[in-house]
Amino acid sequence: MIVAIDGPSGAGKSTVAKAVASKLGFSCLDTGAMYRAVAWRALKDGVSFDDAAGLGRIARECPIEFGMMPGDPLPSTVSIDGADVTMAIRTAEIDKAVSPVSAEPAVRDALVGQQQRIGRTGNYVVEGRDIGTVVFPGAEVKVFLTASAEERAMRRVKQNAERGVGSTDYEAVLADIRRRDEYDSTRASSPLKAAEDAITIDSTDISIDDVIDQICDLARERAV
Ligand code: C5P
Repeated sequence: MIVAIDGPSGAGKSTVAKAVASKLGFSCLDTGAMYRAVAWRALKDGVSFDDAAGLGRIARECPIEFGMMPGDPLPSTVSIDGADVTMAIRTAEIDKAVSPVSAEPAVRDALVGQQQRIGRTGNYVVEGRDIGTVVFPGAEVKVFLTASAEERAMRRVKQNAERGVGSTDYEAVLADIRRRDEYDSTRASSPLKAAEDAITIDSTDISIDDVIDQICDLARERAV
């Protein structure tokens, strides 16, 4: 079974996806981390964001791996071409670089293919922007998780402070979230939008625990 969770930056997708996967005993795939890893490698190699062929080559040729710890169904590390980038992909620099990189169709083609191959190996909660629309249009559960830009910025600042990486300046984070919303929703290739058959959950005024319970209930209903 695939549980697809799409939505804008900072809507709580990662927290929700991990908790839902734990409760259901599913694996979890963070597709944003894959786009971030390609952006990290492009910056490292000095590949310009308008070099479609260069970006496509990185996405096709540099293997992205999620490290698993024994006994934990959730990946704890991300690497690209053998380099551990778990923390390096969460910086403000990557927040900025990832939108143009992920708008490149050659990058999307390569990563979508990898995501589909991973998802076919078992029961997955997959989070991203185009999971219910493009990657797994046949997903049994499709959720579009959203919240106001202000609420999302507040949550992102808290998360960055806890991780000790990324900006903790609320106004800067809010501006970045608005910029990425605009970029991700208006790009030509797989723009961010809810699938027609997705259930939209606005988490601005409901707790993350309620969101998690709602999605688990949906998955259990669809499983029978
Ligand atoms: O989810 P996260 O914020 O880590 O995603 C980083 C960026 O990767 C997004 O802003 C978006 O540009 C891109 N992305 C995407 N398609 C996905 C997942 C992420 O375009 N399925």
